[in-house]
Amino acid sequence: MAGGPDPKSQFYGAGAHMLSETLLYGDLLPEHKNLLRTEALLEYILETSVYPREHEQLKALREATLQHPATLLSVPPEEGQFLSLFLKVLNAKKTIEVGVFTGYSLLATALTLPEDGKVTAIDFDKSTYEIGLPFIQKAGVEHKINYIESEALPFVDKLSKEESEQGSYDFAFVDADQLNYVEYHERLLKLVRVGGVIAYDNTLWFGSVTPQDPDSIALKDPTRNFLVKFNAFLAGDPRVEVTQVSIGDGYIVETSVYPRENEQLKVLREATLKHPASFSSVPAEEGQFLSLFLKVLNAKKTIEIGVFTGYSLLSTALALPEDGKVTAIDFDRSTYEIGLPFIREAGVEHKINFVESAALPFVDKLSKEEKEQGSYDFAFVDADKLNYGEYHERLLKLVRVGGIIAYDNTLWLGSVVPQQDPNSDCAKDPTRNYLVKFNAFLASDPRIEINLLSIGDGVTLCRRI
Ligand code: SAH
Ligand code: CA
Repeated sequence: MAGGPDPKSQFYGAGAHMLSETLLYGDLLPEHKNLLRTEALLEYILETSVYPREHEQLKALREATLQHPATLLSVPPEEGQFLSLFLKVLNAKKTIEVGVFTGYSLLATALTLPEDGKVTAIDFDKSTYEIGLPFIQKAGVEHKINYIESEALPFVDKLSKEESEQGSYDFAFVDADQLNYVEYHERLLKLVRVGGVIAYDNTLWFGSVTPQDPDSIALKDPTRNFLVKFNAFLAGDPRVEVTQVSIGDGYIVETSVYPRENEQLKVLREATLKHPASFSSVPAEEGQFLSLFLKVLNAKKTIEIGVFTGYSLLSTALALPEDGKVTAIDFDRSTYEIGLPFIREAGVEHKINFVESAALPFVDKLSKEEKEQGSYDFAFVDADKLNYGEYHERLLKLVRVGGIIAYDNTLWLGSVVPQQDPNSDCAKDPTRNYLVKFNAFLASDPRIEINLLSIGDGVTLCRRI
């Protein structure tokens, strides 16, 4: 971005969105580096948890791509890291990518797929792929790539008509030819299996998808206008569930979260608003993400620390199968009781094992029971922040290999970034200071893979390896 991108290039940015059973990430604003976060916060995430874990060849490919005038086309490294963790959770073997450019997302994908996995990657410009190819070769994953030099839509169209291909893909990443996203969608719904995911990148289009003044130049951008319609279309498409991987703003929440929010979640959320600590609830877009993620993970048995009125708990219970179980711990039963009528009305109380207890001693005891060890698919930790490190050790015993521990509020309203003034309230906030250390600790913990997502107040996904 040195020297400033040419004004047109802002319409080709990095960033992303995952959608279906479909997902989303945050688009980049060239001038802010990132859509919904400050530059300092993005820098913090990159320096703390992305760069230290970035594969050597990905790093080299990223650096080589920086010299290309269209370098903004590349997905940003934090999105590559998310893709990688997500593909593992999805257990993806066979994937398809539309729009390769120099291959950052492609290499991230190929590195993640199992030895016998395959990614079909389509781009009409092979010259950019050739920039990335030496790094792909050095990484030893070229054999997982089926590169197709072609106009993407006719290729995908033909593929979708071959019976042997239908329902055979676990994942699709669509990152080119935005004006045809609807056309890809129809075809990819044939190619991707039930429970698989189609991810559409750049669906926030640098944030320009929000309502604009009538004289704004954004309204003259056909891609922006198309994506506005496309996002609304996806939100209403009954064939998919959607989520957007980004800090929510009015647009995201109004377009793709509230219209799909379960009725009882909505009334629970509204009832919670009357509580003085209503800000403690996970926001609706995080609930939606959790729900899709739990399905992708195929979670059956989970644990939640910190229930409050139960927004994340009800999201979880709704996402679990009929015989699923969530053990939910809170030392204050009275807030749980605010949400309980809605949980009952939603018909999922039987999936909940509410434990009224201080969380740490309970989790500690549980982690010592042999039959509990390795039996959980997922843990959501959202209380008692100063003890996150203690929960971590115990949850690593309870969660199975390949399972996920999610820590909420790890960005602590953005205050985890370096503080200039050591006497500021932020710099003296013990929780903030603890989380700074905890984030650094997670980044260096070899027992897990991580992804610090800017959803809600920041949620760190840790995948046990
Ligand atoms: N996940 C909830 C919000 C949790 S807020 C939601 O999305 O709605 C944190 C909750 O943790 C509060 O209800 C508080 O009572 C509980 N809590 C805080 N410290 C705790 C501890 N040490 N043990 C058990 N519960 C605790
Ligand atoms: Ca929280």
